Amino acid sequence: MGLVFKKSRRISELPPYLFVEIDRKKRDALARGVDLIDLGVGDPDIPTPAKVVEKLIEAASKPINHRYPFSAGLMEFRQAVANWYERRFRVRLDPAKEVLSLIGSKEGIANMAVAFVDPGDLVVVPSPCYPVYPVGTSFNGGKNYFLPLTIENRFLPDLDAIPAEVARQARMLWINYPNNPTAAVADGEFFARVVEFALRYNVIVCHDAAYTEIAFDGYRPMSFLEVAGAREVGIEFHSLSKTFNMTGWRIGMAVGNPELVSGLAQVKSNVDSGAFQAVQEAAIEALGRGDEIVEPTRKVFQERRDILVSGLRAVGLECETPRATFYVWVRVPQGLTSAEFAAKLLDEAGVITTPGNGFGEPGEGYIRFTLCVDKERLKEVAERIQRLKL
Ligand SMILES: *Cc1c(COP(=O)(O)O)cnc(C)c1O
Repeated sequence: MGLVFKKSRRISELPPYLFVEIDRKKRDALARGVDLIDLGVGDPDIPTPAKVVEKLIEAASKPINHRYPFSAGLMEFRQAVANWYERRFRVRLDPAKEVLSLIGSKEGIANMAVAFVDPGDLVVVPSPCYPVYPVGTSFNGGKNYFLPLTIENRFLPDLDAIPAEVARQARMLWINYPNNPTAAVADGEFFARVVEFALRYNVIVCHDAAYTEIAFDGYRPMSFLEVAGAREVGIEFHSLSKTFNMTGWRIGMAVGNPELVSGLAQVKSNVDSGAFQAVQEAAIEALGRGDEIVEPTRKVFQERRDILVSGLRAVGLECETPRATFYVWVRVPQGLTSAEFAAKLLDEAGVITTPGNGFGEPGEGYIRFTLCVDKERLKEVAERIQRLKL
């Protein structure tokens, strides 16, 4: 007789996984030997720079790195983050109080609600969005208040549309620019409005800055912390994952308001023991080199972006030319839903994309393409779509 295991409510009440159907179709197509082009997952295909890999190999062989790391991160790592922020954004950070290492920024994003959200607390979350923000809220018993990102508001949340009653109850607000999945960007004026909102209603601002380095045509996205008052209200999550093609390494950082940083550090010291020190040493190497190793990646993605965007437009699909991120947010043709269009691309063209509503209902009417395959394959994507009758 087997035991009966009851899953916790936080697990059993997760919203239904919207990609089940796509995953099933993908497995079927692979089993039939279809040559699939996967523009679904946001995971760079470009390898980590050799200098960083060499540093890991060297650091991994040092016995001192085989022991438990210090959960907040090596002081040398936090100093390297502070140096990089100063060089890149002219933002000065105290490495001891305003910088925390993360086991990838996803970990910190999920733990932020553990530190600052109580059952019943309200968290304002843009939609569509990176799913970890609302999951963090609900795992901790909080409630999400979703703010739609639409073409009309340039995919920037309209803070004035939040009823005063909701704003007063809100504990935390998530923002993410350059944005996944819409590829939208924000400027200092928007960030200043966020600071003003946060000060008026006593709301913690969490800015997810994962894509500031993946930007094109000479555009350099801002850090939220560059804006006056940001450090009074906010914390910024950043990561080496997208910047240095290190998604598998699991290393990121949270920076900003010292109370917010220490709250998150308190959670972490109770649930994890930090990132492998050899990985932190390699991360120091990557941050120290900075643009020297990021620039070639930008070139690759920019060329791919131009190929995919012009290919999609040539077949009559509508999209903006992204100024940053490795995503293209594409309007679904009239008469189809996001799920239907994504299914059609998979079934009839062997192209995997993500339906926009998978990131939240206001994403309905769009699908997301990634730029994480080489340019020859992206040309083929356009050719395959051309052969469909849209
Ligand atoms: C990829 C991604 C992250 C997480 O990256 P880590 O590998 O966990 O550092 C965070 N936010 C957004 C929006 C992302 O797309």
